[in-house]
Amino acid sequence: MRNIILASLCGLISILPVPNQSQSADTVFYNGTVYTVNPSQPNAQAVAVKDGRIVFVGSNEAVKAVESKTTRLVDLKGATVVPGLTDSHYHLIGVGERELTLNLEGAASLDDFLARVKARVDQARPGEWVTGRGWIETFWKPPVFPTRADLDKISPSNPVFLGRADGHGAVANSAALKIAGIDKNTRDPFGGQILKDKNTGEPVGMLLDNAQSLVAKHIPADSSADIEKAVLVGVQHSIQLGWCEIQNAGSTYPEVELYKKLYEQGKIKLRIYNAVYGPGPNADRLLREGPTIDAFDHRFTVRTIKIVFDGALGSRGAALLEPYSDYNTSGFLREKESEISPMLDKALRQGIQVETHAIGDRANRIILDLYERALKDVPGDQRKIGDPRWRVEHAQIISPADLPRFSALGIIPSMQPSHAISDLHFAPARLGMERLKGAYAWETLIRSGCIVAGGSDAPVERGEPMIEFYAAVARKDLKGYTGEGWHPEEAVSREDALKMFTLWAAYAAFQEKEKGSIEVGKLADLTVLSADIMKIPESEIPRTHCLMTVIGGEIVFDAGHSAPGQTAASGT
Ligand SMILES: [Zn+2]
Repeated sequence: MRNIILASLCGLISILPVPNQSQSADTVFYNGTVYTVNPSQPNAQAVAVKDGRIVFVGSNEAVKAVESKTTRLVDLKGATVVPGLTDSHYHLIGVGERELTLNLEGAASLDDFLARVKARVDQARPGEWVTGRGWIETFWKPPVFPTRADLDKISPSNPVFLGRADGHGAVANSAALKIAGIDKNTRDPFGGQILKDKNTGEPVGMLLDNAQSLVAKHIPADSSADIEKAVLVGVQHSIQLGWCEIQNAGSTYPEVELYKKLYEQGKIKLRIYNAVYGPGPNADRLLREGPTIDAFDHRFTVRTIKIVFDGALGSRGAALLEPYSDYNTSGFLREKESEISPMLDKALRQGIQVETHAIGDRANRIILDLYERALKDVPGDQRKIGDPRWRVEHAQIISPADLPRFSALGIIPSMQPSHAISDLHFAPARLGMERLKGAYAWETLIRSGCIVAGGSDAPVERGEPMIEFYAAVARKDLKGYTGEGWHPEEAVSREDALKMFTLWAAYAAFQEKEKGSIEVGKLADLTVLSADIMKIPESEIPRTHCLMTVIGGEIVFDAGHSAPGQTAASGT
């Protein structure tokens, strides 16, 4: 009886003439050129939002049905709207630190690099460490690593330690090497290399991969206040670039706790899909405690272990099947198979995702082997999640024989288009023409049936969504250059490039039902752009920028003063 009364009362309430109170949108975005990434309704002019979700997608006319007096109306003035962009491979604290510390990005020559470092050294207190990152020697003449001798000239007494843009190498001066106790007798640590002079055997200052920590561990740790500042600066920078979600490619549990605290305090609006490093204590804790999924209103997830399996191509640390074409080394692996395999089996049983940094063709082949073995060892009925959506981060140089294995095993390649256009200046010499056939093979992987997630690897790269989108569709550097043997057929269509940073990125995070397209019922994440990236000439794409970032229906960034329509028209 009571149930019947309740039921009829509910029915009554729903027909009461409260004018569209439940229907009326919180915000209506109209006059847009909307690309929805929803095949059943690919284009629209207006999107309406209520309680953080999309409640309407359609024309300027039809959207009026969900407007009321309290609805906020946002005139997009013709600007382009895409589903909120996701960067599938990002290092949030690194992005923040890049903004806060000595940023050597864009140092155009050795002299320029040294001048920037010297300016910082001149301000340092006696004995204070001078640290920074972001330099890359690829465009210098000649393109050789800086040395301790170069740094000693500008900093004879302050220790200096400066990371290469890719994070896989750093240069130290003599004062820093001395503090770390590194000399000609120091042996390479596992998974790293101390570059030494061929004649004297003395270290030249460059430390690759795991060797970096020999010096880094002596640098006074950032205070927790510094790290918090880096997170908040990184978040703000990301939102301004147009990212609604970043997939953080590695962290520790103290960082996880910090993110949670900042979400609780309402200081982070950006969505973070976070991985913790493994094998080791962070991965063990995730396997023990289980994942955190969609916390803080779908903003924070921790369900992934990140393995760093080899180095990078630029520093010749990527593990190759055959030696480098321009140097007598084949790179190296940074983790032991014997430690990875038991962790993979456990991850399948516990429903934990795994993503592995693999750049060289040897690293890629071995991780595919290890994934394959684990998937056999732990069949579907013994897994917490049948389709674990494991990923390979970068998947950069792949033996053509291994390319079909990704889709066959259901492995997601998580790739960074900008790496291809940064590397194309040195990769042919380093790899030879033959190996370029399976390098940065986006289109081949997509055609083989893979979902390819797109990312920037910022701060390794700039982290600009439009540079990534351009690199994916143009496969040329920012000046329009493309080298011999650079396989233009591996460029992707604009439709697929957009998916790499929206729907496919969502899939790679088990989020395709909640985000990745502009559809009724999904989370209201939108990126508003200054130009129509689906139509403008290729060369104009990198000049396109973010006008507005909307996360959960809230405008979290608004470029503001410039009128979107005018900006789009002038193509700035
Ligand atoms: Zn990375």
